Amino acid sequence: MIVFTGKGVFGGIAIGKIAVYGKKEQKVKRQRVEDTQAEIARFEQAKNQAIEQLGKLYEKALHEVGEANAMIFQIHQMMLEDPDYCDSITNIIGTQSVNAEFAVATTADNFAQMFTSMDDAYMKERAADVRDISERLISILSNGQGRSFSSDEPVIIMAEDLAPSETVQLDKDKVLGFVTAKGSTNSHTAILARTMNIPAVINIGIELSPEYDGMLACVDGFTGTVYLDPNEQTLSQMKEKQERDLQQRALLQQLKGQENVTLDGQKIKIYCNIGNPSDVGGVLKNDAGGIGLFRSEFLYLENSDYPTEEEQFLAYKQVAETLAGKEVVIRTLDIGADKQVEYFNMPPEENPALGYRAIRICLDRIEIFKTQLRALLRASAYGKIAIMFPMITSVQEVQDIKQIVEEVRADLDSQGIPYDKSIQLGIMIETPAAAIISDELAKEVDFFSVGTNDLTQYTLAIDRQNQKLERFYNPHHKAVLRLIKMAADNAHKNGIWIGICGELGADLALTETFLAMGIDELSVSAPYVLPLRKKVRETDIGKVRDRLLSEL
Ligand code: PEP
Ligand code: MG
Repeated sequence: MIVFTGKGVFGGIAIGKIAVYGKKEQKVKRQRVEDTQAEIARFEQAKNQAIEQLGKLYEKALHEVGEANAMIFQIHQMMLEDPDYCDSITNIIGTQSVNAEFAVATTADNFAQMFTSMDDAYMKERAADVRDISERLISILSNGQGRSFSSDEPVIIMAEDLAPSETVQLDKDKVLGFVTAKGSTNSHTAILARTMNIPAVINIGIELSPEYDGMLACVDGFTGTVYLDPNEQTLSQMKEKQERDLQQRALLQQLKGQENVTLDGQKIKIYCNIGNPSDVGGVLKNDAGGIGLFRSEFLYLENSDYPTEEEQFLAYKQVAETLAGKEVVIRTLDIGADKQVEYFNMPPEENPALGYRAIRICLDRIEIFKTQLRALLRASAYGKIAIMFPMITSVQEVQDIKQIVEEVRADLDSQGIPYDKSIQLGIMIETPAAAIISDELAKEVDFFSVGTNDLTQYTLAIDRQNQKLERFYNPHHKAVLRLIKMAADNAHKNGIWIGICGELGADLALTETFLAMGIDELSVSAPYVLPLRKKVRETDIGKVRDRLLSEL
């Protein structure tokens, strides 16, 4: 038995044969061509074919894993049309009189190296994308000799890394799990694995060997462990664990329609986080009580230009209508830092996480903000929308926001456009400053929602994007928990409600603590709704409240 450890990115146990998804060496030979114009035309043709293929992949992914995850194929289409990328290829063909395959491979190496050497984590990840689109082009140019995977029986895919386009093309009925030698928690492959409900372990950091192909293996997505050629004892332990997991999942289904109430009668709302109208299916399927965080910036991120008021209105209206009167908390634009939108033309910053982002941009570029607010208010006539503002640090910001909201309301009134006059306005508590002055902020708004991802980053001074710091990023740190408690106490003293929409809301080890604090709502990714409901229903909070609070 060989044991590898990596990072589990989606829980679950997979047991089956390994299929090594090795890179079929794309042996690109340098060949001299006489007619460079014809070679450039061959490249152009291959490019158009690749764009068409990606369009089909986008449609497939849209259907299977939702718009936010399908977006990568649109990005790849855009990258294929990037003038710098294309100029480099045609220039190499023209000046060196070489074949298109060689020009593409050389450009891929140059661009990937350039991206890898950038400081920005987001740009680093683009290196994999540029290789992915280039491999597609080379494969088309050389008549489809790329790497592929086919199997008659379901298998565990083991790969150096998987590009998003490869991941989504895999026949899900044939994939029991993923194991990759490389990859980061934030990679699209990790995100797709979660969305596809497939146990996955990434970053096992080994050299892949063709010998592994066909070997029996167990993937434990909970612990991030892979057992190759497991001994009898391990195999039976894994089978038991798998059985327990499946039973658990089946049992959770019985919780649909049940209340989120503790044994001693304390209730809490369990809502979902979404990034796109197409994520609403998961919200309903998992029986969430509403949407606690709609990250509206995805509407901007997937567009190549500012989404119009009408486009935004339709997206918000669709979500509000589908939720049929259940609460939908929509957060205004939170771009900047890792979420860069090209058409905003924002200059690079030394410290983007501490920089020009979220509400700071909106309060600066008021027309963009007002367009979104108009769309949100108009959509509020079709359901129960609440508006939430990110990255707040001062009372003045909230007062400025409210003034702008008033102006937009006055415009709508003068035009006789309907909207929900009692719409709730809330803020995210995701900076230590906001938590510390939450007594004053609570007097200005209808609700708080704690963004624990950023609150942890800013409280502990740890860049949440930096993989090297993962072991220091501790959202259980007392400083973070005390700030949440402080905000909860101040919210309740002032008669407003408080939720948690950061990842910590789904952390079952803290559910009792949050109940003890009197948190009113937890907003989590769809697959975590029912496990959280179970945890709440098993808790007798009266028995542990005092102890938990005294430990903070
Ligand atoms: C957070 O910071 O916890 C949060 C929910 O917002 P985001 O992760 O989008 O920054
Ligand atoms: Mg945040």
